[in-house]
Amino acid sequence: MLKTSITVFDCILIHYGELALKGLNRPTFEKKLVENIRKALEEVEFKKIRKIHGRIILELSEKADLTKLEHSLMKVFGIAWFAFCFTTDPTLENIKKLTAEKFKLKAGVKVKVSAKRADKTLPFTSMDVNRQLGAYLVEKFNVHVSLKNPEKEIFVELADGKAYIFDRKIKGLYGLPVGISGKVLHLLSGGIDSPVAAWLLMKRGCEIDFLHFHAFQKFNKEKNAKILKLAKVLTQYCFKSRIFFVPFYPFEAEAVEAPPKYRLILFRRFMVRVAEEIANQHGIKALGSGENLAQVSSQTLENMAVISNATSLPIFRPLLTYEKNEIVELAKKIGTFEISITPYKDCCSLFLTKHPTTKAIPEKVEAFEKRMNLKEAIKESLEKTEIINIE
Ligand code: ATP
Ligand code: MG
Repeated sequence: MLKTSITVFDCILIHYGELALKGLNRPTFEKKLVENIRKALEEVEFKKIRKIHGRIILELSEKADLTKLEHSLMKVFGIAWFAFCFTTDPTLENIKKLTAEKFKLKAGVKVKVSAKRADKTLPFTSMDVNRQLGAYLVEKFNVHVSLKNPEKEIFVELADGKAYIFDRKIKGLYGLPVGISGKVLHLLSGGIDSPVAAWLLMKRGCEIDFLHFHAFQKFNKEKNAKILKLAKVLTQYCFKSRIFFVPFYPFEAEAVEAPPKYRLILFRRFMVRVAEEIANQHGIKALGSGENLAQVSSQTLENMAVISNATSLPIFRPLLTYEKNEIVELAKKIGTFEISITPYKDCCSLFLTKHPTTKAIPEKVEAFEKRMNLKEAIKESLEKTEIINIE
């Protein structure tokens, strides 16, 4: 994980994507990001976190567990990259001395110095640092300077009255800090897609509550363990969530009368209706789903339109245009894939048919629904809903 052999760094320099700030309120973004970093590091030792111009500095204590820190920061949306740094007062002499002391460079290695000066009051430019530090390292360690093909890059950032020196930029998740875009009620299944969709919504700053429809009479810790596990992995990225566990047996009883071709689409409409009720009760203004255009015969444009018509809330479908292999890759990166592929009873045979309708006709759907006692089914499912908090 950590390639650098030195362990005692002074701080972590954290950068956020400047472009992400376009059109957003910058102080709100920064405040939320700092708050989320604190949450991510709740159980990790550090000294202090502070905001400086366009960056965040995490001061480290001597006991800092670098691996834990790195792992935790890799789960915070809004971070573009971060680096473990050594710091000194910004004079050319100090920078040379500290770099030579901390980075023992092997003779012959191709080195590049990349300085960046945010502090425009300093009496030297970033070019001066590049040239002078480069020349110093050549003389001291007998290295070569190579701007095009370096084997080792030394970065110097001059900001807020300090020089931050580091040799490794660690790529973060980018996106926006969770919490700046409001809350989504996300329909979570035990499949591969919906967990990834939830993660992508978090990436755009959404807080998430999960809604899962299960095939049992009651929520059951063992039987629903897979969903709990998925939500726990996902909650590492949003720090706090709830899962609404809703039994769908009241709907099953009503769906028997409908033609098999239409049962799945009727079930989806039932799901979003229940979701809307829960969302309204909890002040949530949008639903999320893992649907993907034309991935399976039930997820056609026509069917999605009919599903969307059952609710007045917007349904966010971040995976709409993704390829399955892109989704699988993301699921592996997030840590949900291995859980998603374990067996789980998340549908009933009633909805399974070889040929679900691919072009649901709204009038037909409505006619089938008129013959069902949907209101009662929704009411009963809502009454049997259980809420689990995940921290
Ligand atoms: P996934 O891998 O997310 O299950 P999928 O490709 O298998 O997706 P479907 O089974 O058709 O697709 O489900 C489409 C979407 O409906 C899911 O992504 C999820 O958002 C929602 N959904 C499906 N089953 C459930 C369930 N039991 N509880 C809550 N939401 C569900
Ligand atoms: Mg599924």
